[in-house]
Amino acid sequence: MKSLPYFCRGEVVRGFGRGSKELGIPTANFPDSVVDNLPADISTGIYYGWACVGNGDVYKMVMSIGWNPYYKNTKKSMETHVIHKFKEDFYGQILSVVMVGYIRPERTFDSLEALIVAINNDIEEAKLKLELPEHRKLKEDNFFISAASSSPVSTTTPSTPETIGNGH
Ligand code: ADP
Ligand code: MG
Repeated sequence: MKSLPYFCRGEVVRGFGRGSKELGIPTANFPDSVVDNLPADISTGIYYGWACVGNGDVYKMVMSIGWNPYYKNTKKSMETHVIHKFKEDFYGQILSVVMVGYIRPERTFDSLEALIVAINNDIEEAKLKLELPEHRKLKEDNFFISAASSSPVSTTTPSTPETIGNGH
């Protein structure tokens, strides 16, 4: 995917109450303004990368891009699970992310147990992949340092030129 790594940020909005938190895997939702800016070659599926809330620490994340049932599956949604235990919810705060790599396409599962197993596998894969030196360095990108002072809109422009696009 030529658009990776992809940097964006936006306010955390309420999702559609699928009960992700009850499964132990809360997913922070981006508003439509961020989703609508996704480049066309970013397909639906599961991605891994880095994320920070406000001007907080940068953590590993997994993100699901899928079809939003609220809009009768005509609109995409972007849901980020930050791999960190937060003391409280962060609705209304600015979530900054860089999508680094693709894990797998969307799929359906026969049971809730199977879904949870798959998500936990995604999380393990994300943790491993993000240890690669070329992925680790994105954690240090100026994009995250300037997170708090930036406007709450999505952007494809990272703050250091060498991280624009993926070099292909
Ligand atoms: P919703 O349907 O509103 O998205 P979820 O059950 O998916 O509800 O919970 C998501 C919310 O949980 C996020 O918007 C955020 O405020 C909070 N949250 C707490 N910890 C995390 C985390 N580690 N990753 C993502 N969101 C988290
Ligand atoms: Mg959610």
